[in-house]
Amino acid sequence: MKYKGNISKMKSNLSNEVEYSLPIGNDLVELSSQINKPITLNFLNQINCIACGKITKKSFGQGFCYNCFASAPEASECILHPEKCQAHLGISRNMDWAEKHCLQAHIVYLAISSNLKVGITRKSQIPTRWIDQGASHAIVIAETPNRHIAGTIEKFLMQFYSDKTSWQAMLKGKSVDVDLKAEAITAINKLPKELQKYTDTTNEVLDINFPINEYPTKISSLSFDKTSIVEGVLKGIKGQYLYLNDNQVINIRKHTGYLIEMDV
Ligand SMILES: [Zn+2]
Repeated sequence: MKYKGNISKMKSNLSNEVEYSLPIGNDLVELSSQINKPITLNFLNQINCIACGKITKKSFGQGFCYNCFASAPEASECILHPEKCQAHLGISRNMDWAEKHCLQAHIVYLAISSNLKVGITRKSQIPTRWIDQGASHAIVIAETPNRHIAGTIEKFLMQFYSDKTSWQAMLKGKSVDVDLKAEAITAINKLPKELQKYTDTTNEVLDINFPINEYPTKISSLSFDKTSIVEGVLKGIKGQYLYLNDNQVINIRKHTGYLIEMDV
């Protein structure tokens, strides 16, 4: 089957193994059943901004034209620096957007993608956020009424934990062996008193299995900015990456808004 349209990040559904599908134009193409089959993605040399739809030569902040990147609330400073979010003070690029995104229940979590990391996300984004990061295990440590407080807890815990995923190691399936339940208690105990009231002591680990039979030993990362045709046998999917034969991987999310013709 051939499909054509602008792509956006893969949708996922948590089952025994994560089930993935790729939005392309108005279609949603189920990808899990394509594993071990040939797939071709052909970039048609056009990128449309995900906010305003205009053609942009270059993508900023995973899918925006420069104007929207500089003004869209989705590209606010508080996305990268949640502790700087000021929505709770009534300050935002767009308060309607902030009501739906910043002034909502957030969680702080520990996850193992390759390394152990701390992160935050909107409560409604669980487990999507963890799947998108390629985390194999995750545990909630706090729940807060807004993005700012979650960001403050994360910032504090960044003294002890990384907030980044080592994506090369994640793609190779390498991961540290950590007792997440014990680590969650350790992390909670490190928090200052005024932040401890937000802690979540449920202490349950979520395990996530990705559809990959065999991890590559090296990674050859492809980009539509350098090559317009990506083709091969789909070997697996993890995070927002497709694995093809011969160690090829491609980050789908990075190409949000790219016009693609897909053959599966
Ligand atoms: Zn735009």
